[in-house]
Order: sequence, then structure tokens, then C-alpha cells
Amino acid sequence: MLTRKRIKVGRPKVDTRAPNDDKNRCQCVPNCPYQATRDSPFCAIHKKHCTRISPLSGSEPAYEPAKYNEDPNIKDSHNCFAYAFGAYEPPDPAKCKEGRCDVPFHQPGRASGFPSFREFKRKLCPDLVARLLGDMPWLKIVRFEDKCEKGWSKVALVIDPRSDYHFYRQDSNGYWSHKPGGTAVTNRDASGRLIYDPALADRNYSDKNGALNYTNFCTYLSVPRFVAPRAKRGGSRHADKKRGGSRTDKKRGCGSRRKRHADKKRGGSRKRRSRRRSRSRN
Ligand SMILES: [Zn+2]
Repeated sequence: MLTRKRIKVGRPKVDTRAPNDDKNRCQCVPNCPYQATRDSPFCAIHKKHCTRISPLSGSEPAYEPAKYNEDPNIKDSHNCFAYAFGAYEPPDPAKCKEGRCDVPFHQPGRASGFPSFREFKRKLCPDLVARLLGDMPWLKIVRFEDKCEKGWSKVALVIDPRSDYHFYRQDSNGYWSHKPGGTAVTNRDASGRLIYDPALADRNYSDKNGALNYTNFCTYLSVPRFVAPRAKRGGSRHADKKRGGSRTDKKRGCGSRRKRHADKKRGGSRKRRSRRRSRSRN
């Protein structure tokens, strides 16, 4: 008689879509029951030894925050996308005054002709991935535990579905760094801890004078480091700057700014808001 073989169900994979509401999560393994210690991305046990690793290819960029932070014009004109993919385009000095450059950020999809983000109210993983693959069809979707080929290294994509996307990149020290919008490059998460895994790091900035919370983890990608990224600047920062809303969100955000939120705060009728919108689009 045939007996039905019991299929062994393995441990669930990382549920990276879970909201990252636990600010003190240990970043070693997704199901670690202990909290991270104050000065480390790990709990006391995993601080000593963490077996889950994201192996290096040897082609990861070095963590050199000064490259983007020192010159205020470079800092102001490069966002997370530019930083993670290695775009480095000093803007025309004539367009920069006191570290405020009137040039738009690099935006996923601009190089391949996707419409501006400003026409969309929400940002979602499939749209962002489509935009990235449109710009750079050679990108590969990988896992945290994968080792990239020589010449390639990892970036990670997350989103705040209401308003923004964000990227991290793995550095040669194994940890991850990022550049939140026009603010400084950092290797710390929203809780001030080193980033061992962007999927488990604190991505909630909603208590830091803003509302950005990158709840959704999209994917890790393998990016070639031997060619310049196909990334283009796009959209208008000028119009966004004129809008209201939280100043920190505007500085920290990588995509277009919190349009709806800002408009709501400014009040006025729906008609007036949409008039304002269409005006600033021109
Ligand atoms: Zn742990």
C-alpha cells in the first residue's frame, strides 16, 4: 500500500514584507527572539557570532562618506539611488547656492523614459523594479545570502508605499550604507545602529520630525561596479521645495516629495489643491 510521504516543511523564509515596527530587532536572523543591544545591530548572543552572512564578492565599494558629504553641492544633488548605484555627477556650480542645488535627483526609470514619479501618488515595489530594469536590464535580483560575481555587488530596495523609495548598498566592510535624499551618507539605520541587513534594520523615521517609514522591503539586486550606472536626473525639485510639509521629509526623501500630505497640511479645497498641483507641474 502506498503511504503518503510526509513532506517536511522547512522553516519559513524571511518575511521581509512584515512591517518593521520593531525598532530594536536583532539583524542577524529574522526570527531572533532577542533585542539588539544598544551599540550593535545584534543581540548579545549574535553579537559574538552570527552565522547568517551576506558574502562579499570583493568588488564592493569602500565606505567613504566624505566623497558625497564633504562638498555641500555634491551632498545636496545626490540621493540614495545615485549613491547606491555609484552615480557621481557634480552639478553645474551656477545652479548651486550655499549647498542648495537647483537640479533634480537621479530617478529610477528616467533613463528609460518612464514618466515622472510626480504623476503617481504611490510607489510600489513592482513599479520600482520595472523602472530599474528598464534603465539597467543587466541588474540581477539576488538574495541576502547570495555572493555576487566578481565585479558586482549588492544594493537593497525598500519603499514607503505612501510616498518614497530608498536604496542601501553593501560596502567592502560587509555592512550597508545609504544616503537619505539630500542628507549625508551614513552607515546607520533609523535607530542609529550599523546596518547588517537592510531587511531587518530600522527604516522608520516617523518619529524623527518626519513621516517617512520604509515599511516594505522589495529586493536585493546585484549591480555591476565596472560600468557607470545608467541613471538620469529627472523631475523637479524646485516645485517640491516650494510646497509645505515636513522639512526633514523633503530633505530625507529620495523620490518626489510628500505631495498629498503636504497639500493636505496646507489646507484649502480639493479644487484649489489640484489647481496648485497642475500649476507646479508646468
Ligand atoms: Zn540575535
